[in-house]
Amino acid sequence: MKTHRIAGSDLVKAAQLLRSGELVAFPTETVYGLGANAMDSAAVDKIFVAKGRPADNPLIVHLACSEEVTRVARDIPTLAQELMQRFWPGPLTLVLPKQKDVPNQVTACLDTVAVRVPDHSVALELIRLAGVPIAAPSANRSGRPSATTWQAVAEDLEDRIAGIVCGPPASLGLESTVVDMTSIPPRVLRPGGLSIEEMHSFVPSIQPYSALPEHGSESLVHSPGLKHRHYQPRAAVMVVDLASLTPSDFVLISKFRHAHYIGLTPPTNSHAFQTVLVCKNAEEYASKIFDFFRQADLLQADMVCCECVPEVGIGVALMDRLRRASHF
Ligand code: AMP
Ligand code: MG
Repeated sequence: MKTHRIAGSDLVKAAQLLRSGELVAFPTETVYGLGANAMDSAAVDKIFVAKGRPADNPLIVHLACSEEVTRVARDIPTLAQELMQRFWPGPLTLVLPKQKDVPNQVTACLDTVAVRVPDHSVALELIRLAGVPIAAPSANRSGRPSATTWQAVAEDLEDRIAGIVCGPPASLGLESTVVDMTSIPPRVLRPGGLSIEEMHSFVPSIQPYSALPEHGSESLVHSPGLKHRHYQPRAAVMVVDLASLTPSDFVLISKFRHAHYIGLTPPTNSHAFQTVLVCKNAEEYASKIFDFFRQADLLQADMVCCECVPEVGIGVALMDRLRRASHF
């Protein structure tokens, strides 16, 4: 299948492809999404084939506005309605009881569905033109770093999908925050672009995300996507605290022939690295991390050294992604 490049100004063609059951990647503010008509089970099946995604990892359904939420979800709690009003469009995904006609492929047979309204004019216009809810995981091969540019989408999915809407790089660069609204109190299943601090100033009862769960634990059942390998470049990822690196750590790093560094502080041993990217804050770090992983792979890196950041604001989601990408 030839993959069409589609300009952000020419969304009619992209919407037609979606309506006819094809897959189209499109920009959002978090990462690029790989879209299919969420109400068409055959179209949704194609997402799992194109990405090589395990069938037990459910998808997020994207809507053009919050009024459409009842097309896929029911019995919406008052608190969920308030969160939608406050944070949609935006990087917040709500897990809600699902409507019967949402295909099982979308929800991995759960009786809940994850939904959000993206804060991106191209994504919103595309969903509106398609006229159907759009199921869309990140537009990368499963396990790889998420795609934050259309070029990254092409790298992973060329000839496997019908179209790519070519927009600018994703501004946030990390996925949405997933909150389970079916539990009392609601709780964060995945940290993401909307911080717990922002949500807490509005709904203090939301339970923060608690670290990587063990296999077989209750949280895995609630958010099955958490158990899969994720975000990994081919190079080994090492998460370091520069302040506590010992001389033997430096010896370890110097053993890699093509090591790359990303962080907020310039490393003292910068000669040990082929490239060094010092970001001005955690937001910039978050927006660049997945592209940095991919560039490192293109340069045949054998190691990417990532400075750890304080776990506040976007730092919680960034550290979650770094830990999951880490081989150490
Ligand atoms: P991705 O689309 O790859 O960013 O992943 C979607 C995330 O949302 C995964 O972590 C899923 O486990 C989570 N998710 C999607 N649907 C549900 C659901 N119905 N219940 C709980 N978590 C969900
Ligand atoms: Mg993903």
